[in-house]
Amino acid sequence: MVRQPLSVDLQVRIFFRDQWLCHWCRRPTIFAPAMKYLDRYVRDNGYARPISYFDSQWRRDAAPLLDELAAVIDHRIAHVRGGTSVEDNLVTACNKCNLRKTDKLAENFEAKESFQHTRGRYGEPENWDGFVSLFIIYSETYASQLTVNEKKWLNAIRNFLSVGSAGS
Ligand SMILES: [Zn+2]
Repeated sequence: MVRQPLSVDLQVRIFFRDQWLCHWCRRPTIFAPAMKYLDRYVRDNGYARPISYFDSQWRRDAAPLLDELAAVIDHRIAHVRGGTSVEDNLVTACNKCNLRKTDKLAENFEAKESFQHTRGRYGEPENWDGFVSLFIIYSETYASQLTVNEKKWLNAIRNFLSVGSAGS
């Protein structure tokens, strides 16, 4: 079966629907491009020590936060088991859960993994955005350096948030 790539608009909708929390472990997830430009910003501003904020492969040695928490779209029921890409079957996941789940059935995964579901004493975060705000702000600072794909994400995020699309 050919796996259709998910549109960026759809992915943005899923992330915000799930409030950027991992469906499986409930940890807050992170929009990886924000870390890329945070890394660049810190270094451009003269911070001389090595930092491990971003790596394009999300390698643990080079970007531990992304290795754990980078936001990805996951299928509740994996494609190979007949799951589809309709919105109900798609969830936000952290990179770690996504890698651990592989193609297991979602219910098996939830049952087998003894997740310590994070539960806040004062409730769940309502305004966590995966550092999307940072990405929007840095995308203006680094407008000329954005990749084609990052521009797509920026436009999709701006459309979703209805904050206009000045400069694009
Ligand atoms: Zn997770």
